[in-house]
This record gives sequence, C-alpha cells and structure tokens, in this order.
Amino acid sequence: MSNESLANLLKEERRFAPPADLAANANVTAEAYEQAKADRLGFWAEQARRLTWATEPTEILDWSNPPFAKWFADGKLNVAYNCVDRHVEAGNGDRVAIHFEGEPGDSRAITYAELKDEVSRAANALTELGVQAGDRVAVYLPMIPEAVISMLACARIGAAHSVVFGGFSADAIATRIQDADAKVVITADGGYRRGKPSALKPAVDDALTRVDGVAKVLVVKRTEQDVAWTEGRDLWWHEVVGRQSAEHAPQAFDAEQPLFILYTSGTTGKPKGILHTSGGYLTQASYTHHAVFDLKPETDVYWCTADIGWVTGHSYITYGPLSNGATQVIYEGTPDTPHQGRFWEIVQKYGVSILYTAPTAIRTFMKWGDDIPAKFDLSSLRVLGSVGEPINPEAWVWYRKNIGADTCPVVDTWWQTETGAIMISPLPGVTETKPGSAQRALPGISATVVDDEANEVPNGGGGYLVLTEPWPSMLRTIWGDDQRFIDTYWSRFEGKYFAGDGAKKDEDGDIWLLGRVDDVMLVSGHNISTTEVESALVSHPAVAEAAVVGAADETTGQAIVAFVILRGSANAEDESLVSDLRNHVGATLGPIAKPKRILPVAELPKTRSGKIMRRLLRDVAENRAVGDVTTLADSSVMDLIQAELPAASSED
Ligand code: ATP
Ligand code: MG
Repeated sequence: MSNESLANLLKEERRFAPPADLAANANVTAEAYEQAKADRLGFWAEQARRLTWATEPTEILDWSNPPFAKWFADGKLNVAYNCVDRHVEAGNGDRVAIHFEGEPGDSRAITYAELKDEVSRAANALTELGVQAGDRVAVYLPMIPEAVISMLACARIGAAHSVVFGGFSADAIATRIQDADAKVVITADGGYRRGKPSALKPAVDDALTRVDGVAKVLVVKRTEQDVAWTEGRDLWWHEVVGRQSAEHAPQAFDAEQPLFILYTSGTTGKPKGILHTSGGYLTQASYTHHAVFDLKPETDVYWCTADIGWVTGHSYITYGPLSNGATQVIYEGTPDTPHQGRFWEIVQKYGVSILYTAPTAIRTFMKWGDDIPAKFDLSSLRVLGSVGEPINPEAWVWYRKNIGADTCPVVDTWWQTETGAIMISPLPGVTETKPGSAQRALPGISATVVDDEANEVPNGGGGYLVLTEPWPSMLRTIWGDDQRFIDTYWSRFEGKYFAGDGAKKDEDGDIWLLGRVDDVMLVSGHNISTTEVESALVSHPAVAEAAVVGAADETTGQAIVAFVILRGSANAEDESLVSDLRNHVGATLGPIAKPKRILPVAELPKTRSGKIMRRLLRDVAENRAVGDVTTLADSSVMDLIQAELPAASSED
C-alpha cells in the first residue's frame, strides 16, 4: 500500500520548481550539497565563520567520546554579541530587530541599537541579582520582547536559560525549575490571550512553594493585573532593569558553554531536559535560517509564529534571525483574536515576506475558509515554512495556493528540540518541492532511513529516520542524565542517532516523514503509517482534521481507529458519511488502510505546540484510563472526546 499511496502523492503536476527570480538570487545554491559532501567538517568550519568569534576555533569536531560531541571547542564567543552588538557596530543600529504586535493592538518597534541597550541593562540586572556564568535562569513569559531580551541577557553573561512555555501549569514550572536548579525566575504579571489578560505570576508563586533555591523573581509588568508579592524575593523588571546602565561589555565564553536547557514537548511521554551549547548551536541556527528561508536582512520581514517556549521559538525567533540581523515580527496572541484574519492582517501591516508556521495552524485556517486570507494583501510573501508535524499534502497545497499566491516555495522543515536546528528541508531556490515531503538533508547533514537491522533502505522503502553523522547544533546530553541520553538516542542503532520518527524514501530518494515510530500501526502484518491515513482523510472535502491510532484488535493485531473533525458544512449524524470516508481512504491507500472505526469529534488532544497526542487517543480507543495529560493544551478535550464517543461499535 505504501508505494501505491506514494505514487498517488507524487503525480507529476504536484511538483513545484523554485520561482526563477528566487533561484537566481538564492543565498544557497545546489553547489552547497557538493561542497559539504566533499568536506563536511570543512563546510561547517566555513559556516562557523558566519559568526564573530573572540577566539577563532581551530578544532572543528571532537567526536573522541561519542555520543558526547564538542564542536569548535577551542573557540570563544559571546552569543548575545553575535545576535545584537555586531549589527550595531556594522552600522545597522537603526534597523528594526523586532516589530512587536500585542494582542490588544498595541505595537512597539525595537531597533538593533535599542535591543543592545535593553539586553545590556537586563544583563547588568541579572548580575546584580547574583546570577553568574554557568547558573540557570528560568523564563516564564508571554510572547513579548522581554522574552527575547531575557534569553539574550542570560547568554550575554554565560548563564543558561530554561524557558518554560507560558501556558504550562505550576506543576510543570516546579519540576523544570527543580530539574535545572534555577536561581532566578523571570516572569510577568500576565499576557494577553483570546482577548483578555491571562495571569502568569500566580503559577510561579505556586511553583515556588514547592521548590527551593530560587532567590529572586523578576516580574515584567504587561497586563497590570493585581499580583501577590513576596518582599525580598519579587522585583519589578521596570525598576531593576530600568535603572541599570546600558553599557555592558560582553565577555567571551567557550564554544561549549551551556546556552540553554529546553524540555521537549512531551508528545510521546515525560519531557526530557535537552541541553544545547553555544558555538555549534549558533552556527547551525544561523546557517539554516539563512539557507532555508533565504533571508535577505536588508529587505525581508520575517515572521515565525511559534511560541518562544518551544524550540522553534529559540532557534527561529531568537538565535537564527537575530544572529543574521533580520527584521522580524513577534505577535503576542492567538490567531482568532479579535477575528480569524488576524495573522493576515499582520502580514499586510508589516509587509511580511517570510512566514514560518505549523501544520496545525494551517489546517485551522483551512477550516475557517479561503475567504478570510483572501481579504488581505499577502503579496509581500515570498517564502513559506512549516514545522512541527508532517504536513498533509492537502494542507501544503492549500498553504501555497491561498497564502502564497501559488508562487511561494513551501519549505517543510523536519527537526526536533534535540537537533537544535533544521536538518531536513527543501532549499527554496534549489529544490523542486513535493507537497508533504521534507525531502532531503541540508548540506552538511547526514540523514537516512534504516530497517530494523540498521540497514539503509533502498529508494521506495520505509523504516526509521536516523542521523548518521554528528551535527553542530546537536543536543549535548539530557540535563543531569547522560545515561538516559545514551539510552534514548544512541542505543537503538549502533553509532547512529535514532530520532524516534518513521520515514520512507521515495523513488528519487526524497524523505517522507511518517509520524512517530510509536504511532506506526501493524494491521494484519502490514505496517501502516498514521500520517498517511490522516492525509487521506484530510483530502476528503468533509474533513478538516484527522488523528489516527492503532487499537489492539483480536483478529488483525491492530485496527485503525480515526478521530475526525468535520468541516463546517458536514453533518456528523450522516450515516453515509462514515462509509464514504472509509471508502475514500480505501481508494486512496488500498483496502487494508480502511479505518475500522471513524469517530467524528469536536476537538483533538494537542500539546501546547499544537501536536496531536495520539497516545491519549489510543487510550480512548482501547478503553483505558487516559495517561499523563500535563502537556495537553486543554485538558478538558479528553473528557469531551470520551463523552462524545458512542459505545464501542465497529464496522466490518
Ligand atoms: P517528546 O519528544 O517529548 O515526545 P516532541 O517530540 O513533540 O516531544 P519536539 O522536539 O517539539 O517535541 O518535536 C519534534 C518532533 O516533531 C519530531 O520528532 C517529529 O516527530 C515532529 N516534526 C517536527 N517537524 C516535522 C516535520 N516537518 N515533518 C514531520 N514531523 C515533524
Ligand atoms: Mg521528540
């Protein structure tokens, strides 16, 4: 079935060549693949020269103690200097670094010169509060400029930040503060979401009743909500940071100085504290942002809609774009506040030319209707990116057509918290793109697909995605747990990094991500990917979103159970719809892939970063108590789904 379905997806007309003008002026051309292939380490050494080093590295990679890598180990640099000061020194101090758009409609433009002053003040403030190089600082903020400023202030003084997503509970904050042993917490009274102020500080106050070691809490005033105050511990940002000098001499740190700890989204289980360091991480964040988005810092306006609380926000809001001197938009709120065209209004207002968002958002926009983006002038856009989950071909094509005027290249970027930066993606001026495929490892990156015995599969075959060579922005370990680092990523296949994702190669050798290995279904002896069945369902006009799981089944081993969100016009009570959908999947992928049960639901369980949590749906499909829901965006969704379910019924 797999090859048939791929053949379906790969029809000739579903390939898109790069626009000629983009290709002619692209930052990176096809030559980069050749160059990196001939000398991978030399290639990365050259990319490291994108940065300004206090001491140039002479060593490239130290892989003498795998899987513990050191990149550019004898080099020294200051990450914040690279993201801010050097642009001012180059004469670009008046360039806008951040166009901040608050949810209520307030806005603020921050130039690189202003950013330098703010970061310097915040660095002086942290130093005054006793933070030293090597310490950890927890950051729990809304999407406001102070989030970026806090991260850079930590980097500037050699402290590692641990950003905790602003939607997480006191519990999640407490465990992350404890695990990282953070000394200071930076938070806010609240932020604006869905049209109203949403408090943040109470969760920090609550978390701090459970953990020791936090001496100071720095509080940004954003919403003017009332806050409880612990004298001696709590301090207002505007007072403490506000009275600091804007002069701060950045000190150079080792390339392997810890830059941040970030906990994974927890889509598949308990989050892991992923440790990233400085020189290698910044090299790859900077290079990939330059290559994959074709950023022209003088003219582009870039917007990544991710939250700063997950890795996309770290690498493609803070470190990649700012190291490249980009002008970018940061938006505080939700896409439907005060109306469902808010994103497109922002693109129009700032003339956004590069947009980076997630499949979950794209499917939501599809559900809301084509007429909404059509009301806005989106002609400034020239490159569109996607990250977070496999993007269904249907959503990819919709994105290109309705947002990208059928001309913008769509770059589907595969990577993880662990990889630190993009690993597999088309290059917008080079690649002939295929909807639904991340396609090819970037220059300098070695990725492939292997079978159970670690043998590389031939073109047309499927298996496990692995990374076969170390890369500069790779995680260095799981914070405080080297053994778990080895066990989780380096033990499944000898000498290879196991990503945990299923994938296949098509006849051209292009890579298609098929979802988590844990999610692959085994039906009557056939491996079937959840992603493919979901994409088949989403390609039916009645379906807006789908989540598919394999549930234990006496006769077939596993049976396919699909949860679907219908589009506005479709009727969930319509008996024939379910059989229509089953037949549609059968016609697209083959009879074996027909779901045994299809359950229309109003919502799907998603993490805070918008990923579907299939393990919870598997619990429902197998009539079990649902597992850990702490990283779920909205915990009431599971109750809703269970209440909606008909008594376990099945079709033949
Ligand atoms: P946890 O590891 O705790 O379960 P998580 O894997 O969801 O959480 P992230 O690091 O945010 O945490 O997500 C990385 C994962 O997201 C990848 O392993 C992959 O499954 C998925 N992913 C990201 N981008 C893409 C993409 N372009 N195509 C397919 N899958 C993607
Ligand atoms: Mg993961």
